[in-house]
Amino acid sequence: MGAAEVARTEPIVILGGGIGALTSAIYLGRAGFSPLVIEGRLPGGLLTQSHLVQNWPGEMEINGLELTEKIRAQAEANGAQLISAEVIGVDFSKRPLIITTRSLDGSEETLNIRAESCIIAMGTEPNYLHVPGEKEFWGKGVTNCAVCDGSLYKDQVVGVVGGGDAAVLEALYLSNIARKVYVFVRKGSLRAVEEKRVAFLKQTPNVEFLYNTTVEEIQGDGNQVTGVLLKEAGKKRELALDGVFLAIGSTPNSKLFQKALKLDSKGYIVRTKDQQTSLKGVYAVGDIVDPIYKQAISAAGDGAKAALQAQDYISEKLGPMAHVTSPPKQEKAPVSHEVIEIVSVEQFEEELANSSIPIAVDFYATWCGPCKRIAPTFAASADTLAGKVRFLKVNVDRVTPLSNSYNVRAMPTMILFDASGAETERGVGPVPITQMLKQLHVDQ
Ligand SMILES: Cc1cc2nc3c(=O)[nH]c(=O)nc-3n(C[C@H](O)[C@H](O)[C@H](O)COP(=O)(O)OP(=O)(O)OC[C@H]3O[C@@H](n4cnc5c(N)ncnc54)[C@H](O)[C@@H]3O)c2cc1C
Repeated sequence: MGAAEVARTEPIVILGGGIGALTSAIYLGRAGFSPLVIEGRLPGGLLTQSHLVQNWPGEMEINGLELTEKIRAQAEANGAQLISAEVIGVDFSKRPLIITTRSLDGSEETLNIRAESCIIAMGTEPNYLHVPGEKEFWGKGVTNCAVCDGSLYKDQVVGVVGGGDAAVLEALYLSNIARKVYVFVRKGSLRAVEEKRVAFLKQTPNVEFLYNTTVEEIQGDGNQVTGVLLKEAGKKRELALDGVFLAIGSTPNSKLFQKALKLDSKGYIVRTKDQQTSLKGVYAVGDIVDPIYKQAISAAGDGAKAALQAQDYISEKLGPMAHVTSPPKQEKAPVSHEVIEIVSVEQFEEELANSSIPIAVDFYATWCGPCKRIAPTFAASADTLAGKVRFLKVNVDRVTPLSNSYNVRAMPTMILFDASGAETERGVGPVPITQMLKQLHVDQ
């Protein structure tokens, strides 16, 4: 595949960085392994997008990001090695298994990792409407994460598309921020099962449910969303809106395993016994195997079972002390970057006016998971490009007038300015921002 090889064979590698993966990591860590956890683009997983988790045992209510950070810390404290990389290929046709990864630290280095066994916990990808305007206005008013982007819609009018628990939660979150929240439900009733939340939402004065309604088109003025074209019980009408939040289900991230493992008709990985897949020594957990429940606690339960099964498999195959071969964690050298935190509009204007080099600005929020993921890459670029590009960051909750004046509609957003202070490029979301940073290294 052209990727660098790691000489050593890992006993157990975990693919994914959500609740399922992290629970497996805790169990394996406590059993004396130092499992590699390939976290992917969303460390902490989907739960980081929930502002309010109320069904996690032991916590009356907790923010999803806070909960996953606790679990991540617990996994690390028990010896897990969390790696900022994504899996781009697997070869399970022979032993050891080969897992090919691409680094997400900006270098895009690829690596072939050899493993005796692996646990797949790569979750699902949110679904899209596939209607006109959706792609065009993605990040300019269309999003699928209220927790990430909700605060940008203060006192505005937004629509949530969907009728399940995720849609209810998104609408509830947005009802505290937006002036008005429409919920577009395709069918004649909700299919959410969290009855208490549904009852509460139905009594929330600024929330309106539109049943038997589909979004046919997302409309905008070139820069941002201005409304939607709806089809309500067969009739079409336009509705003015500032933002559209999608909560319309998800598809398992299992394409990479199509040839290697048995999948069902919807792409969920099929299990033969507990978390065992169609291939011995390969286990799968959480939403990627679960077309029905898709809950944090069930992903955690799967993660625990898979870890125990994988341990048995390794002990049987290599003997009870096999894990002792795992090496100690390798620390990365610290970087000495300089990213300037902007605290006022005036400070920002001064920066723009006085800089003789281009400026990259990261608009972020403290509670935004993807923002946290991009921060180390941004900081590493600040280090490498010191003197060539200035790197600034803006907390949108702290300097809101600035994010408003630059029409920041989703997070993270990175804007590039040239030496004259003119905006030259904009990226929304971790992937486009990583690509922009990569290009900056080439250009400078
Ligand atoms: C808005 C929202 C609110 C929710 N609220 C609740 C709630 O209150 N209570 C509850 O129980 N559940 C809730 N859920 C559901 C819960 O988040 C999921 O059931 C749970 O996160 C599933 O965990 P998982 O580990 O299977 O997958 P995920 O959490 O989806 O994690 C998948 C992981 O795989 C990684 N990954 C993906 N592709 C790759 C790749 N190619 N290489 C490497 N890694 C990869 C990702 O980076 C991620 O870390 C909510 C979900 C949403 C969207």
